Amino acid sequence: MDFAMSEEQTAIFDMAHAFGQENIAPFARQWESEGTIPKSLWPQIGELGFGGLYVSEDSGGSGLSRLDATLVFEALSMACPSVAAFLSIHNMCAKMLDTFGSDEMKSRIMPGVLSLETVLSYCLTEPGSGSDAAALKTRAEKTNEGYVLNGTKAFISGGGYSDAYVCMVRTGDAGPKGISTVYVEDGTPGLSFGAMEDKMGWRSQPTAQVQFDDCKISADNLVGDEGQGFKYAMMGLDGGRLNISSCSLGAAQTALNLTLTYMSERKAFGTSIDQFQGLQFRLADMEIELQAARVFLRQAAWKLDQGAPDASKHCAMAKKFVTEAGSKIVDQCLQLHGGYGYLADYGIEKLVRDLRVHQILEGTNEIMRVIVARNMLAAR
Ligand SMILES: Cc1cc2nc3c(=O)[nH]c(=O)nc-3n(C[C@H](O)[C@H](O)[C@H](O)COP(=O)(O)OP(=O)(O)OC[C@H]3O[C@@H](n4cnc5c(N)ncnc54)[C@H](O)[C@@H]3O)c2cc1C
Repeated sequence: MDFAMSEEQTAIFDMAHAFGQENIAPFARQWESEGTIPKSLWPQIGELGFGGLYVSEDSGGSGLSRLDATLVFEALSMACPSVAAFLSIHNMCAKMLDTFGSDEMKSRIMPGVLSLETVLSYCLTEPGSGSDAAALKTRAEKTNEGYVLNGTKAFISGGGYSDAYVCMVRTGDAGPKGISTVYVEDGTPGLSFGAMEDKMGWRSQPTAQVQFDDCKISADNLVGDEGQGFKYAMMGLDGGRLNISSCSLGAAQTALNLTLTYMSERKAFGTSIDQFQGLQFRLADMEIELQAARVFLRQAAWKLDQGAPDASKHCAMAKKFVTEAGSKIVDQCLQLHGGYGYLADYGIEKLVRDLRVHQILEGTNEIMRVIVARNMLAAR
């Protein structure tokens, strides 16, 4: 058992961290107030090989392990979890396309996906189905040319912003086996978007409904086989859960670093506040929880890389544990900043807002517990 990062892993982390500090952190608040991330950022990230982190090298991707990819998301989210999480969604879609797309589809779309000239959104949730995703209703009727889509996807990160949408749609009967995955390019007639949602956090990412109104796509835009879409969507989510957890981890680390500095500078009752033992204990508790979260997350990533039978359970456990630890830590860091923590200039309140949603998406933390308990009961 070796818990050390390899030289290559350290280099990956350092590269992502340096990029984030230079190109993302200084602008994160501006992008949040503008409600968008400049499109020009993505090809720069693509040049680092982050457009297809775990897309196979044969397909032109970086071929990294899931564990390596968690390092990228942890490092980037130290600059801004909203930007890092958006990249995670793109990568989740890229991996689905690389794994299940036909050779023709891959040669057509993967170059743009990998360079991040083509930014991808993942469309599973609908207004009437979130946790119960297999109940989705968006319909894809087969025609001689391909499919006609009708329905609405809700809460789509990058809705109205992305260049293409990887969508789970119903081609068959009710239930998971009636679901297929299709690729819909921006600009396709019949594709439109709702108004931008006004959200608590992740405010630099546009979130909107994605609507299909007799939206016609060619048969070549079916990803993999009909009826397998739910399986594909769920396979993407194990890794997505690791990435979201990494985003909580990186942001919590930033908050803790800022807090350590702040506490040495802030004076109360004639001393710097880092001299109060009660507060030192809180620092220690945060450090313990953060380190535990990091080890637990990396173990889950390792299990997914190994194809371990309990990998999904570990991804779910890590997602619940790390996202809750991350939110608790950034909230405590805000508290230790006193009133200043509540001001945007100090960089903490945005993290509190950004991390909250990590407990809700990629499967809520209640659903993570459903997965864990189901695995425990099945293994009796
Ligand atoms: C900012 C943001 C961005 C998002 N981006 C995307 C995206 O890009 N693509 C996408 O497809 N979706 C996206 N989502 C949607 C997200 O995945 C869903 O919101 C999430 O899955 C929960 O679904 P829901 O909101 O319908 O809640 P519901 O499923 O209605 O759940 C409501 C409550 O009931 C609980 N609950 C439900 N079922 C059970 C159960 N069986 N046992 C115990 N508790 C249960 C839930 O945990 C929750 O607390 C995004 C959401 C947000 C807020």
